[in-house]
Amino acid sequence: MSESIFTKIIKREIPANIVFENEEVIAFEDISPKAPVHILVVPKKHIATINDAGVEDAELLGKVILAAAEIAKSKGIAERGYRLVINCNEEGGQSVFHIHCHLIGGKKLSWNPD
Ligand code: 5GP
Repeated sequence: MSESIFTKIIKREIPANIVFENEEVIAFEDISPKAPVHILVVPKKHIATINDAGVEDAELLGKVILAAAEIAKSKGIAERGYRLVINCNEEGGQSVFHIHCHLIGGKKLSWNPD
């Protein structure tokens, strides 16, 4: 497994507020939240960007999304609604090169890609 800041969280080398974990997926609170609920759902396998994912990763990525939905339910925001976001590369706003799905909610979200 290659290193990223998220690999260090997975290996407990740096702290994080972990809200979910199983063999393949970990989720923790974003250090700089953009909404009342802002959780990063991360496959433990290091894949740098969504461009680097292959068909062999399809099941894993599905599990990431399903984990995000379960966490949304556990946080009590599922019925009100929330957003799942995967940023890719520079123009997509990606800053950590280890695929992660942002689970954002707990308030009415605007839609402004800028
Ligand atoms: P990206 O910009 O790559 O889509 O998202 C990276 C996210 O990781 C950002 O929202 C940023 O706040 C979060 N982040 C960066 N470093 C850390 C860290 O060390 N711990 C946690 N919990 N979140 C981090």
